[in-house]
Amino acid sequence: MFNGIQSRLVISYIVVIVLSLSIALFTLFLLARPLQARAIALRLSSELNQVVTQIQASAAQVSPAQRSPERTLAQIRKYLPQTTGRLLLINKQGMVVLDAENQWNGREITLPNRQRRLPIIPRSEEFSGRMTAPDGSIMLFAARPLSPRLFVVMVAPYPKTASSIIVELWRGFLVAGIIAFLVAVLMGWFIVRSVATPLKQIARATESVATGDYSQQVPVTGPVEVRQVATAFNSMTTQVQSSQQAMKDFVSNVSHDLKTPLTSIQGFSQALLDGTAYDDAARQRAARIIYDEASRMRRLVEDLLDLARIDAGQIEIQSRPIDLTALLNITLDSLSVQFAKKQITPEINISALPHILGDADRLKQVFTNLLDNAIKFTPAGGKITVTGGDTGVPPDASTVIRKRHAPPPAQSFARISISDNGVGIPPAELKRIFERFYQVDKSRKHHSGGAGLGLAIAFNIVKAHGGHIEAKSVPGQGTTFIIWLPAAA
Ligand code: ADP
Repeated sequence: MFNGIQSRLVISYIVVIVLSLSIALFTLFLLARPLQARAIALRLSSELNQVVTQIQASAAQVSPAQRSPERTLAQIRKYLPQTTGRLLLINKQGMVVLDAENQWNGREITLPNRQRRLPIIPRSEEFSGRMTAPDGSIMLFAARPLSPRLFVVMVAPYPKTASSIIVELWRGFLVAGIIAFLVAVLMGWFIVRSVATPLKQIARATESVATGDYSQQVPVTGPVEVRQVATAFNSMTTQVQSSQQAMKDFVSNVSHDLKTPLTSIQGFSQALLDGTAYDDAARQRAARIIYDEASRMRRLVEDLLDLARIDAGQIEIQSRPIDLTALLNITLDSLSVQFAKKQITPEINISALPHILGDADRLKQVFTNLLDNAIKFTPAGGKITVTGGDTGVPPDASTVIRKRHAPPPAQSFARISISDNGVGIPPAELKRIFERFYQVDKSRKHHSGGAGLGLAIAFNIVKAHGGHIEAKSVPGQGTTFIIWLPAAA
């Protein structure tokens, strides 16, 4: 029952409401009497002042000879009904001479401070406090001497006890509590609706994903936390969908690329078996094709295994000091036959390439692939340039994936670029060439003889070295591949 957000919210609201009402009641309990007493004392004092001023004013109109206690009494009686406090006249001995309510006439009242204050305070000085009435009740009073023998006193009952205040107020508190409770339920309902509705949508979409429908996208609504969940969910399904698609593409690419040479091998071996290849030249040709196709298949399978191993992190990338200049020269030498076939003399422009730590065999594989592509996609007599030097952080350093437990990003990078003036790559295709099986133009495929895996492997090897690779190209003018590799400290 208390598992839902709404019930939990409402319970927490109730706790807060009860707590704040109790604190308010408690504070009221502590403060009510002193505050009330203060208000009464102020009222008594102001009434006392008015009465005394009036009496003194009318006394001033008669000559001293005409003044008498009886006259004063008569005047005071005139003001009795005008005050809310109870007016008393008390003589020096503390005896009530006049009581506005005619109850305490002739009774004795002790005003605190009177004895102490009388000799020193001037006539007009007022004093006030608490006193005990003849009937034993506690009263507040404000007093002022009218003459050396007479005091005017205003009294009012001391405020009721605090518990009686609570008895008076509990209804108000109950109503406030009920209203606050209703508001809490309503607010809880709104908050819960704004959180629960999108969460339920996400839950439903997740169930659909579990049954294999990856096209699910949920609306991004509600509080920021819920919106974050929805955004994360949407990007997750997009990624799952695209990796599902990549997997499907991969399988269909692999099967297609294996089927083509197999069909060819099957056809020509059959020609050998059934005698369709009847003379030596035909048999020679069939054997050559079978050999070439088998080699192509072997390369493809090797590339696939390579990629799979890099993906699974099974490939051990060695971390040995490498002289990149020497490595580039060795790679160029090993491709001298291909260069010669295309009548290309590579231009080499290497200066101060920093030493790096890495796997020489793997990096040679990368350079070979890039140079091989450059030769393949450059017309005979074209130009291929290899440049090397040292540089700062790559332009897009965020794509440099640091190896686990790798030292902080290197201050300096070795930068190697391989440019050609060949066919180039259209801008729209440029960002996809590092994808597996991606080939710019399927019709180039036969021409290149590859399966579109070389650059994907190169990308992964460079990444595993903590480096970065990118391509720039102008169609019809040529292509440049640039590699950054972190320099050894
Ligand atoms: P492949 O083995 O098919 O060459 P790669 O992964 O090495 O596969 O290259 C992918 C695609 O990128 C190639 O099919 C080609 O279309 C394009 N490409 C690579 N290098 C160059 C280049 N230097 N000039 C033009 N296109 C290139």
